Amino acid sequence: MLRTGIVIDTRYQDHYTGRNHPERPGRIGALLSLVENYQRPGTKRFDPRLATPEEIALIHDPAHIGRVAATAEKDYFAFDADTPVSNQSYATALLATGGLLTVLEAIMTREVDNGFALVRPPGHHAERNRAMGFCLFNSAAIGAQFLREQFGLKRILVMDWDLHHGNGTQHSFYDDPGVLYVSTHQYPYYPGTGAAEEVGRGQGEGQTVNLPIPAGWGDTEYQELFQGVIEPVCRQFNPEFVLISAGFDAHTRDPLGGLEVTEEGFGIMARILLRVARDHAQGRCAAILEGGYDLDGLQKSVVHVLDEMGGETLTQALPQIEPRGLLPRVKAVQRQYWELPKE
Ligand SMILES: [Zn+2]
Repeated sequence: MLRTGIVIDTRYQDHYTGRNHPERPGRIGALLSLVENYQRPGTKRFDPRLATPEEIALIHDPAHIGRVAATAEKDYFAFDADTPVSNQSYATALLATGGLLTVLEAIMTREVDNGFALVRPPGHHAERNRAMGFCLFNSAAIGAQFLREQFGLKRILVMDWDLHHGNGTQHSFYDDPGVLYVSTHQYPYYPGTGAAEEVGRGQGEGQTVNLPIPAGWGDTEYQELFQGVIEPVCRQFNPEFVLISAGFDAHTRDPLGGLEVTEEGFGIMARILLRVARDHAQGRCAAILEGGYDLDGLQKSVVHVLDEMGGETLTQALPQIEPRGLLPRVKAVQRQYWELPKE
């Protein structure tokens, strides 16, 4: 049995986005009640620490950090139409990134084997110098950089299965061979980036892997792509740590997306990534919550991922699927850089 660290905190509800915003405090409320009732032995709850401004600056410009910090003096501010903030948003964003760093420290010091930071606001759209798409600071990107600077790791995998493309994370490491960024995302869709041909540049060419997915696809299509493209690419990269930007807005009941992944599907994706972590990264795997706006779908999906993190299902066979040869253009692009199984 594996030990799993969980970070969640009532203070993640303090970032107020206004009435009717999908990225709302109640998401954390739903997950707090889930965690209080989640009984699997081997789980350990951690209180998050605040990230320091220096840690935020691992990815973001000081001017951007200053602009977000300045919103603490305002009753209300909006970075764009999607990204309103309140006077507690800066502190909550520091706690969100700090929540992931808390999980990473617990894994690296072997207090736990893996972990899940259940935090908000999300982060993967945040660019070096810009808040956007509900995101203020890019916690996953900061976490990847933190693992390299603080613990000397050389190869970090960031798998982003949120419905949306993680433009901010992609751009943070676009010419950097030390981070493999892999994203599945509905396409074309917000934020517009994430075409198959976006593969990185310079030293990082080939280390960005985009799988743009049409509306309507679900568990079997995802499993085929994970087994046929994502798993072989990740194993060849040989990561020392597996970070998951875990959004659940690809869930079939999510109000923002057009994809049809179920909670069981997210569990299968987690199992495949946990196997990669087991075989290449000493089991080290951390997930951070990104999107996911149907509260019931969010809760059930998080339970499936936490169950997989317990390790007892790792050796169970995956569901039998009939491969359909999906995304041949993506595979043709990726074959320039990686060995993929023949079809
Ligand atoms: Zn999303």
